[in-house]
Amino acid sequence: MTNDDDDDDARAGRETPSHKTTSGRMTTSREDVETNAMAIAASTATFTSLAWTTQRLGMVLRIACGTPFVSGIAASMAIASSAALSGASARVVERARAARKRGKGGTMKWVTDALVGGADARDVARDVFVGGGVFLFLSRGNLSRIFASDVARVGANARKSVAAKGSEYATDAQRRLLGTWLKKHGCHHCGSTRGSVIGDHMPPNKKAFGSGAAAKANRGASFPRRVFNYVRGVPLQRFYPQCEPCSALQSVAVRTGSRTFVAHRVGLKYGVLCGVACGIAALHFDDIRDWIDDNARRARKTFASRK
Ligand SMILES: [Zn+2]
Repeated sequence: MTNDDDDDDARAGRETPSHKTTSGRMTTSREDVETNAMAIAASTATFTSLAWTTQRLGMVLRIACGTPFVSGIAASMAIASSAALSGASARVVERARAARKRGKGGTMKWVTDALVGGADARDVARDVFVGGGVFLFLSRGNLSRIFASDVARVGANARKSVAAKGSEYATDAQRRLLGTWLKKHGCHHCGSTRGSVIGDHMPPNKKAFGSGAAAKANRGASFPRRVFNYVRGVPLQRFYPQCEPCSALQSVAVRTGSRTFVAHRVGLKYGVLCGVACGIAALHFDDIRDWIDDNARRARKTFASRK
């Protein structure tokens, strides 16, 4: 870290959390460890509670995981703002602790100092990049998993699926496989691992064939008939592991054509990890960058001296 960086930190009211000794080793005081823990706890609590709020708000606004067009855009906006606020809360805690350490002006003064300190655009961009990147990785590219599951669509907790043979029921072997997935990963809509498994057709039979009767009539259809169905636009269906309560909700929703949403903890689980990542990046991004730079420089020097 250069002197200029130290000056920048002093101006921003930031306290460097660790100190380098003359040998270049990092030393960390007990107070630093406490500050780190509190700041990361704040950023984790912020991201997780915003992920929960997003899911609830989505249920009110009728946005679910996989809702065409709107769910991707709304999820990106929600995750970007959760990440920005998550990083900001870590910095507020860090600044509050630094102001308290300086001990001027009493409690009100250090609280206002911490809040007024503000963040620059680089901080916000980094928070969004880190939080968004971690969520994107965990959700395997589907940010809309932050929203509730719509029982007529593939759920937010969907991980594995197996090809279905049209509207046929799952075979015994498929049911056994789906049963192990339910125990391991949970129902694809709500995440519950309890009870016996239902092989859930996705898209649902009524949606795929146009009516329940048509789906029933195509059970046991010959191979040419199935090829004909595919050509006329019946989608290839897959089985996902589903719990009994979600299956009951789904049959009512599909029969009546209503939209039924089911809450889950997927966004909260991802929110915890995103919050931790945003907190660490907010506190230690410069240290991590310096460490990478130092090592790259050392590696270059070693490489050059061997030539
Ligand atoms: Zn369920």
